[in-house]
Amino acid sequence: MFSIQTLVRPHILTLKPYSSARDEYTGAEGIFLDANENPLGSALENESFNRYPDPYQRKVKEKLAVIKNCSPAQIFLGNGSDEPIDLLFRAFCEPKQDNVILMPPTYGMYEVSADLNLVTAKKVNLTPDFQIDIDAVLKAIDRNTKLIFVCSPNNPTANSLKKVHIRLLLSNFGGLVIVDEAYIDFAKDGSWIEELSDFPNLVVLQTFSKAWGLAALRLGMAFASEEIIQILNKIKPPYNINEATQQLALQALDHVERKDTMVKTILAEREKLVANLVKTPCIVRVYPSDANFVLVKTTNAKGIYDYLVAQKIIVRDRSKVVLCEDSLRITVGTAEENAKLLEQLRQYEG
Ligand SMILES: *Cc1c(COP(=O)(O)O)cnc(C)c1O
Repeated sequence: MFSIQTLVRPHILTLKPYSSARDEYTGAEGIFLDANENPLGSALENESFNRYPDPYQRKVKEKLAVIKNCSPAQIFLGNGSDEPIDLLFRAFCEPKQDNVILMPPTYGMYEVSADLNLVTAKKVNLTPDFQIDIDAVLKAIDRNTKLIFVCSPNNPTANSLKKVHIRLLLSNFGGLVIVDEAYIDFAKDGSWIEELSDFPNLVVLQTFSKAWGLAALRLGMAFASEEIIQILNKIKPPYNINEATQQLALQALDHVERKDTMVKTILAEREKLVANLVKTPCIVRVYPSDANFVLVKTTNAKGIYDYLVAQKIIVRDRSKVVLCEDSLRITVGTAEENAKLLEQLRQYEG
């Protein structure tokens, strides 16, 4: 039987968390002389950010819970997705003892976080068609394996990973399966958030950085059981989401339709881009995309990358990454940007 109490590091269970002024008194009105804030206002002209923000971002979570069809208590907000990724290591992985499983080629931050926390990252490559090598992953699990990172749609390959495989991991692994859905708004499949009630060991990561267009705000989301969220809350920096970000996120959440319209536009542009890339001589192959970018195999990734940079068009050279030989990752831009890219690619000789 899965038990979060036995999975979490023992000292985290007994840790006495920092108790902020806003933890100890949560009322909205009164004379606040409890947090050493500036009572006069701020050095800014019009806005006042003199008070500490809500440490649990209650208003943002309430709105988000409606949109995501979950409970506010199943949501953790972080300073980008990087923060919940790091906190999961700190909560569940004993340095120099525990390990996690990653499936390259994938998002680089999982390994950085593992290295930073002195946790071994066991790598089980995706299959040549960029799907989970399920037998190899199940075989790689040992008693010290605490986390498995699944990125779907996967960065940099752009495809979604098969749900049957992810379900197999969830039901055959006693640690946490983290499904990173940074690109879920661009995918055909629905979110794993729907399945939270079936899998107590599931953590879903999403972000405001991609479809919502708010990369600069640094706001990431984790969805999981209340128990897991409570652990993340216990160890996070007290005021990890600043007030400006909370206010702007609230405004954005009032306009889901704007996000949806942008997603539609980007998807239409992606289809046009793909249709044109497949006809471009220096492009050998365009991999299927469920994201706002495409991975392409080229005749000469380094040469094309440098040529594009000289034209002030910057793509991502992924050719040094396993299974991505001679491949470039191209973000879908505006219609004009994509047209310029295609024009330059057509003229490439080499
Ligand atoms: C872009 C991206 C994120 C988002 O990171 P933030 O820190 O929230 O900006 C997370 N995971 C993957 C796989 C990504 O590509």
